Amino acid sequence: MQLEGKTALVTGSSRGIGKTIARELAHRGCTLIVHGSKESDALRDSFEDVKKLSGDSIMVTAELSEPAGIDKMFSHVEQSVTRLDILVNNAATQKPGPFLELEQEDWDRVFSVNLRAPFLCAQRAGRIMRDNKTGGKIINISSVHAYDVRRYYAHYSAAKGALETLTKSLALELAEFNIQVNSVVAGAIATELTPLDRQASFLTSIPAGRIGTTGEVARLVAFLSSNECDYITGASITVDGGLTLGFCASRPDL
Ligand code: NAP
Repeated sequence: MQLEGKTALVTGSSRGIGKTIARELAHRGCTLIVHGSKESDALRDSFEDVKKLSGDSIMVTAELSEPAGIDKMFSHVEQSVTRLDILVNNAATQKPGPFLELEQEDWDRVFSVNLRAPFLCAQRAGRIMRDNKTGGKIINISSVHAYDVRRYYAHYSAAKGALETLTKSLALELAEFNIQVNSVVAGAIATELTPLDRQASFLTSIPAGRIGTTGEVARLVAFLSSNECDYITGASITVDGGLTLGFCASRPDL
């Protein structure tokens, strides 16, 4: 799973899962484009971390709910790196709430960041990969919420479900350009922001008996980024310790 000579853009790599993905790809020899919504200490820390592993890496900021922000980010990317081999659509937002109280504004925001931004980023990255004739990999970070719905996540689940379908459509259309498109369906993953009580309440519904780590998601992304899996496209690969195997149905508190 060596990625020397490749360049990857990981959206939302200032913290959480995206930060570990950026580090993992850099560790395997990839040049990184580290992204956050805005300048922040977290973004700078993540970038400094990656730079130690991969010196040519760069940092970009863009508010992904705004198409103009995405345009600006890709203009910057095109001026700063000579190739783009891997796009990881990782950034996402959520604001859980009861369906009957859901504001249209919240629906629109979740859909703009979690679905429209991956579409626009995949289109821009796909054009670069096609024009460079280098092929490439697009990896969408999805969620078990796409399949296994929970209360208060109607907009998040719908957007992740659509992201799963989008993955397959892109895989079909981009195969002729040697671009593989896959999704990683993550279960409950511990990040700095996952509240500990939420982690504890999940444990009994996870057959593996524990929350996943960001490293476990990142290593799968590294595999999907590599030429080891050039024949895998349109796949959704679950990393959830068995969470979606049916345990949830017996847990009315979830
Ligand atoms: P996180 O810690 O909340 O980090 C989110 C990242 O996305 C940050 O880098 C953030 O940038 C960026 N971001 C959020 N809104 C943005 C916006 N409007 N414009 C630009 N960037 C934005 O998230 P996470 O828990 O690591 O989740 C990463 C991915 O895994 C998401 O796709 C999520 O749906 C999926 N996932 C997570 C879990 C889990 O248990 N954690 C489970 C299943 C799936 P800033 O720092 O600049 O705000």
